[in-house]
Amino acid sequence: MPLSQMECCKCRGKFPVRRQRGKLRKRDHIKTMWCPWCKSVTPHRERF
Ligand SMILES: [Zn+2]
Repeated sequence: MPLSQMECCKCRGKFPVRRQRGKLRKRDHIKTMWCPWCKSVTPHRERF
């Protein structure tokens, strides 16, 4: 099952997410998305 781990660049919170739309390609890919800990949209690093 494709799981990806996102690390918030702001709070350093990590949480697993299901595969994003598109394909998992880059290991350290910055993605701007909602952080459940910050309760705001922050840049996240995508990791395996
Ligand atoms: Zn955060």
